[in-house]
Amino acid sequence: MLQTLRRYNTAWNFFKHLSEESFFGGGLDITNRCNLRCTHCYWWRQKKNPDLNDEQMIAFMKDLRRKGLKVIYLLGGEPLLRPNICAEAGKIFDFIMIFTNGTLGYPPVNNALYSLSIDGPERVHDKLRGKGIFKKVTNILDNQSTKVMIHITVCRSNRDHLKETVEHFVNRKNVRGIYFCFYCPSVVPGDKNTETIPLQERDDVIDEIVGYRRKYGEKIFFTDRVGYYLKTNGGVDRWNSLSKCITKKLFEFYAADGKYKYHCAYGAEAECKNCGCSQVPLMHAMQDRDLETCLMSYKDYWGMPYHDNFLFNAFVKYKIGQPG
Ligand code: SF4
Ligand code: SF4
Repeated sequence: MLQTLRRYNTAWNFFKHLSEESFFGGGLDITNRCNLRCTHCYWWRQKKNPDLNDEQMIAFMKDLRRKGLKVIYLLGGEPLLRPNICAEAGKIFDFIMIFTNGTLGYPPVNNALYSLSIDGPERVHDKLRGKGIFKKVTNILDNQSTKVMIHITVCRSNRDHLKETVEHFVNRKNVRGIYFCFYCPSVVPGDKNTETIPLQERDDVIDEIVGYRRKYGEKIFFTDRVGYYLKTNGGVDRWNSLSKCITKKLFEFYAADGKYKYHCAYGAEAECKNCGCSQVPLMHAMQDRDLETCLMSYKDYWGMPYHDNFLFNAFVKYKIGQPG
């Protein structure tokens, strides 16, 4: 109960940080290990320093909390290879989001939201992640009780299969909703970035996703205003460069050895001008006080009352300075 109140309080304070563009949260690779070898993933190909051990990792997370980091993304590798660290993070931070490939279940963690990466329908998902993985992941999802967010990274391989993927998951048991980002290419020489969809081509995909929002409502975690900030004839120019991106002001990211990584989850090699992050557009939409985006964020992301509640909506309007 106390922790839920702490999370709510932190959620309401997010506006203050957003307005001031001040430090708020971050991400931590709690392990470099992964139990999959996805073809589109650079992670397992890179040489990395050893992970901090359990004791060091817990002490490190407590230091981050003292430093002012209130919310944290637990990343990897596959974070659930260290379930004890996930559980400890739930006690330390006000809100955590665990990004998982879904093969290891969803152990209960305080104040946690699970984000399950899905690349497409079975044939697409398995082509990228390995034979049988889709069935394994969906069986696990269906046969437990935690509600999870589905995270689709739109790329060349799945661009033409979005409708099928959305239909497959949107009303599925244990799915809270679906959110999207675009594959972010890297600037490392030799990286072919064959999954990249150029900015101009993305515009149509964004319209398609906004169409799903109109059809399926709040289960699609992507508003018109978020789409606007990803489009070439919208607001993408306002943020898609290192000098302009707001992420580095609000978030810090750390590697599994405890070293500062970079100011965004994609790391130092990300090509900002073709960035496909949907969190930055979300933050801009909230800075604009777009009511639909703010309600979506509070209900879906922060896990506040999910149903359409008059009082809740009125309070959000008051909070963002809109007439009730
Ligand atoms: S599950 Fe994630 S970290 Fe692991 S190989 Fe696949 S994309 Fe990479
Ligand atoms: S790659 Fe990272 S720093 Fe660059 S624009 Fe995207 S979110 Fe911002």
